[in-house]
Amino acid sequence: MLISVAVPVPGLDLLTYAVPEGTATPSIGARVVVPLGSRVVTGIVVEIDVGGPTHDEPGTANGERRVTVVKPIRQVLDAGAFVPPDVVALARWTAEYYAAGVGDTIPALLPPMARGGRADAHKTTRMAAITPAGIEALAAPHTITPKQREALELLAGTPTGLATPALAARGIAADAISRLARHGYLSLRHHRLDRDPFSGPPGRDPTTRSRSDLGVGPETDANQTRTTRQLTLEQAGALDRLTALARARAFRVALLHGVTGSGKTEIYIRLSDEIRSSNRRVLMLVPEIALTPAAAALFRQAFGDRVAVQHSGLSDGERHDQWQRIRRGDIDIVVGTRSAVFAPLEHVGLIVVDEEHDGSYKQEESPRYNGRDVAIVRARQAGALVVLGSATPSMESYHNAITGKYERIVLERRVLDRPLASVSVVDMREAYAAEGPNVILSRTLREGLQARLDRNEQSLVLLNRRGFATAVFCRQCAGTVDCPNCSVSLVVHGEGSARRACCHYCNYSARVPAVCPLCAGPYLEVAGFGTERVEAEVRKTCPDARVARLDRDAIRKRGALSSLLSRFRDGAIDILVGTQMIAKGHDFPRVTLVGVVSADVGLGLADFRASERTFQLLTQVAGRAGRGDQLGEAIIQTLYPDHYSIQLACRQDFPAFYERELQFRRAMRYPPLISLVNAVVRSRTFAGAMDDASDIVDKVRHADAGLRILGPAPAPLGKLRGEYRAQLLIKGMNRKKIREALQSALGARPELQRRVVVDIDPLSVL
Ligand code: ADP
Ligand code: ZN
Repeated sequence: MLISVAVPVPGLDLLTYAVPEGTATPSIGARVVVPLGSRVVTGIVVEIDVGGPTHDEPGTANGERRVTVVKPIRQVLDAGAFVPPDVVALARWTAEYYAAGVGDTIPALLPPMARGGRADAHKTTRMAAITPAGIEALAAPHTITPKQREALELLAGTPTGLATPALAARGIAADAISRLARHGYLSLRHHRLDRDPFSGPPGRDPTTRSRSDLGVGPETDANQTRTTRQLTLEQAGALDRLTALARARAFRVALLHGVTGSGKTEIYIRLSDEIRSSNRRVLMLVPEIALTPAAAALFRQAFGDRVAVQHSGLSDGERHDQWQRIRRGDIDIVVGTRSAVFAPLEHVGLIVVDEEHDGSYKQEESPRYNGRDVAIVRARQAGALVVLGSATPSMESYHNAITGKYERIVLERRVLDRPLASVSVVDMREAYAAEGPNVILSRTLREGLQARLDRNEQSLVLLNRRGFATAVFCRQCAGTVDCPNCSVSLVVHGEGSARRACCHYCNYSARVPAVCPLCAGPYLEVAGFGTERVEAEVRKTCPDARVARLDRDAIRKRGALSSLLSRFRDGAIDILVGTQMIAKGHDFPRVTLVGVVSADVGLGLADFRASERTFQLLTQVAGRAGRGDQLGEAIIQTLYPDHYSIQLACRQDFPAFYERELQFRRAMRYPPLISLVNAVVRSRTFAGAMDDASDIVDKVRHADAGLRILGPAPAPLGKLRGEYRAQLLIKGMNRKKIREALQSALGARPELQRRVVVDIDPLSVL
């Protein structure tokens, strides 16, 4: 008897193994220990009784079959399915659709395999995981030392990564690991060891929205609010329709298009109650780890401890425990980020994808799946209802709703008839004319901030760009100080002696040079500004204000994010400056002003979604103002006040934006009107990347003359982490045909496999 097994090795497809005589046939979803080269790995049974002693060797061309002696499995670890068979099927679908190896999906399927270190609760450890470059290095003979090879091989067998102490225990020292990380062969992340994701000092919890106000515990508070709170008419209407869809027990997708503050969460909770009362279960997806505690707390208030969380920010111990509870059937509601779409939950009746437009649902490494789309496929398999919630739906989802593919449910008003924030635009060209070219905060915004301060209200200031200055340039030769590894200029962080020039793509960092590296002239200046500079300007403008900054740099320390958010919620911060992180999902009732510095940051990017993203960001951030009793205001600074994404965001006119943007997508042939696939070829030289890309273009054309291909062209980020990148965009009406043509082209160049990144339905084409 032959079976197909998915093994946790990046890029690898299903492998065939034999079940020895006398061993009971394992179930689909069971874990099996199998030999792989000189190693032994744990895989998952995907198919049984696959027949025939031939199979595709990994990496060989389509159709080329070889007779192989099939190795026997070593051991069956589970009597039944460890991973539910429908989740195995979902993983298989994901791998196929996104042109990835089934092995790539395994990390999302299994709870972390790493053990050890689970007892010491409040320690941090570092997890090392192999990168695609590391896998490539393993394949190339002379790039690494034997010790490094040993480390990489170890890591290649554990896609979830290994804790550095575990590596040390096998004789791989910390400096060897750092060296590998510097080469980009492995990635390191900090990783917490506390077990219960719901535990933590109660007062500091940013998630219990009204608890501190009422001075009672979450459970009692919840039951009170839950039973006494009247749904608005709109909420009740939406809930009625969704309940009817849920009761039909058939696959259906509903787009819940509700303005910011329209009370969508309340609808999710009541709908979940309905699902539970019919003995079915709920998957609740949110785009970011930072949003899971708030959502989980609300569901816990409503449903007690039959709520679990699943996301990559949990420690192995937590993740493992939560996973097991879900698998045992002790859980009715799973709240998590995109990978939770693979949670081992049975009898799923509802999947909610909140903020469905959010780019964080897309995984930017293989398999490059969109959690929202995989959720829809999962619901289709399960005959479940999907609710996609957003104030700014993606073009794709709105298109599907307009064309009748999805049910469309609209919430046009905020709860309690709170008005939407009024939005005004400041034309920065006028501000420069009036106050000089160095002004960062316009007079309108400065006065707005001061007025809020005087009234004891809070403000948010958004700039979607980190750092102090965006470039260092030379006044003599006009050159900029660029990253040695990437085709971008370095961003200045910090002030005074702490000042450094950093790359946001590869993490290269260096002291800011005293003289120009190109012409040796002493006339270096910094240009542009990021959140750090805005923070400094805000402090200057409002010296009495308590100012803080929230961006990726500010929250590197563990616990910094939740502490910042709860300080802001408790009123210990008056003005919070930050990147798009402050625009997302949070509900801060005392915020009455949102200022946007440089609303057009994203518009300059060579990406067809630039306008959509700008519109979404502005609408979302304006939606953070006026969620309490006081009226909200948004002040948007821009150099392009006439751009439609900015104008329509100010009017908060989503349908008009959709129509306008659709014209552009239609004229330029972009999604949602066609399907798009992005392929990027990486190479050590520019010519190499371009040559290989043009070879692929020829082969794709040959395979399917009906496709439109843009490129080969240098990718907008022409060099990244030391490698040159060439790009081709393939457009067609049928995604399957594109994928097949591309796969047949790549099949003819198997040695290219590791250097080509294929992105189906890309969110970004940079
Ligand atoms: P959305 O997700 O649509 O932006 P939320 O679900 O965050 O909106 O709701 C906004 C605020 O309104 C929250 O503080 C929520 O508790 C409150 N809320 C929701 N529904 C009601 C209601 N029917 N009556 C009063 N307050 C409500
Ligand atoms: Zn770089």
